Amino acid sequence: MAVSEIPARPPRAPRRPRGEGQWALGHREPLNPNERIKKDDDPLNVRARIENIYAHRGFASIDPQDLRGRFRWWGLYTQRKAGIDGGRTAVLEPHELEDEFFMLRVRVDGGQLDLTQLRTIAEISREFARDTADITDRQNIQYHWIRVEDMPEIWRRLESVGLQTTEACGDCPRIVLGSPVAGVAEAERIDPTSAIDEIVKRYVGDKQFSNLPRKFKSSISWLVDTPYEANDIAFLGVDHPEHGPGFDLWVGGGLSTNPMLAQRLGVWVPLSEVPDVWAGVVGIFRDYGYRRLRHRARLKFLVADWGVAKFREVLEKEYLGRTLLDGPAPTLPERPIDHIGVHRQRDGRNYVGAAPVVGRVSGTQLARLADVVEAHGSERVRLTPYQKLLVLDVPPERTESLVAGLREVGLEAQPSAWRRGTMACTGIEYCKLAIVETKARGEELVARLEQRLRDFDTDISIHINGCPNACARTQVADIGLKGQLVPGPDGRQVEGFQVHLGGGLGMAEGRTAGFGRKLRGLKTTAEELPGYVERLAERYLAGRTEGE
Ligand code: SF4
Repeated sequence: MAVSEIPARPPRAPRRPRGEGQWALGHREPLNPNERIKKDDDPLNVRARIENIYAHRGFASIDPQDLRGRFRWWGLYTQRKAGIDGGRTAVLEPHELEDEFFMLRVRVDGGQLDLTQLRTIAEISREFARDTADITDRQNIQYHWIRVEDMPEIWRRLESVGLQTTEACGDCPRIVLGSPVAGVAEAERIDPTSAIDEIVKRYVGDKQFSNLPRKFKSSISWLVDTPYEANDIAFLGVDHPEHGPGFDLWVGGGLSTNPMLAQRLGVWVPLSEVPDVWAGVVGIFRDYGYRRLRHRARLKFLVADWGVAKFREVLEKEYLGRTLLDGPAPTLPERPIDHIGVHRQRDGRNYVGAAPVVGRVSGTQLARLADVVEAHGSERVRLTPYQKLLVLDVPPERTESLVAGLREVGLEAQPSAWRRGTMACTGIEYCKLAIVETKARGEELVARLEQRLRDFDTDISIHINGCPNACARTQVADIGLKGQLVPGPDGRQVEGFQVHLGGGLGMAEGRTAGFGRKLRGLKTTAEELPGYVERLAERYLAGRTEGE
């Protein structure tokens, strides 16, 4: 064909910028399958289908979009099928990885439980969850082996004592972290529990926030006893020189891929305004959050692109209709506070913080705990974001006996540094995304280190994660472990960890918060992990300077 016969190409229309799928900029059409699922039907509506259809017809009747999408808004994830190794996680289809049971997360906002609630959690665990009831690092309780047929009865029991699974997972406002010693700590100037309760009452299960670009994590605490910088929003106690106690607002934290720490907006928020300001920030996320690419859909990416000055301006002008007061930065402690051990409350009684191993407890243990707590004159238990728990309101003369009673049920108020500082995510036992085993490895690690280095006298945090998703906060531990396959002694791929060293949160100047360093080549097989940590600890002890 002669050149002159080639039909001329029509001129290209100027390319429309693709944008990030932000609703406020007119991108309402779903740009990925997750957005489509949320648009097709509000995920909160799936509760009625579970109760009226799936619970009667069984697992096989569940619509796949409900099963792997909307169920999460009610705290339900399908559970990993037993016996599938980590090498096949990325290759198999979701339906090949899952069995017919669920993980179920119960939200315990602020970590606050009374004895009736504790007994109900224990009873459900024993009747419906094969005695599982892990304490997560977000103050939730997580069951395994749940059947869809049992969900109506489980909800009935939980809700009859004021607990819920509503929006425990999904692209919505998850559990609000709170200080485990809210309302009792001597050092606390305001108890923020009323703000947490108000947020939960007004907005959890509210369809105005049930379709966010991704999950939204919150923390509200006077003390530095939650991992606040790892949350999408955090309110941290601060004294204003003129206005008194209130809260310093942080936004845009999140770990997982592209980890970022939350940043201060530089504003002071009085307690009464916390729920409105919280709703304003969630509104920005809903309207301006990125929805095109799932891995860029967390609030942290918007905050990073806008900067805090623009974020504050949009919050004030478009969402609150008023300016916020400038505020001072809070004072940070040497290390985040975990409340383990015996401590005096402001009313003269004690609270006692105790450690299971890597957050693993059973319903049987929790039922026995409730009896021990009651026998010592207390009615309140708190969960911590470090997979630990506290008993409040213990009379001083009964404290020693309570500590002994806790020990009898497997909860240690005077734990070794290893037991105290080690956390582990769900891992390959139940999690479909996992590459390696975590909980059992954590238990083995703690046992070995207790045997070999029982008197190790320094606080140390070891966070074991089954994959790069960092649910147990890989990047902010002294020793952060990210599960992956690594070459074994014979060159074949085996379970192992990428090691991050020297991360931390909530620290005073001089021990600045930040991410651990991921060093190329710093990897260990899972089998060699205890020996690896032991050598690291020994080197540290041999080389540390006076007072370190
Ligand atoms: Fe699962 Fe990975 Fe999260 Fe662990 S870090 S619970 S393996 S997604």
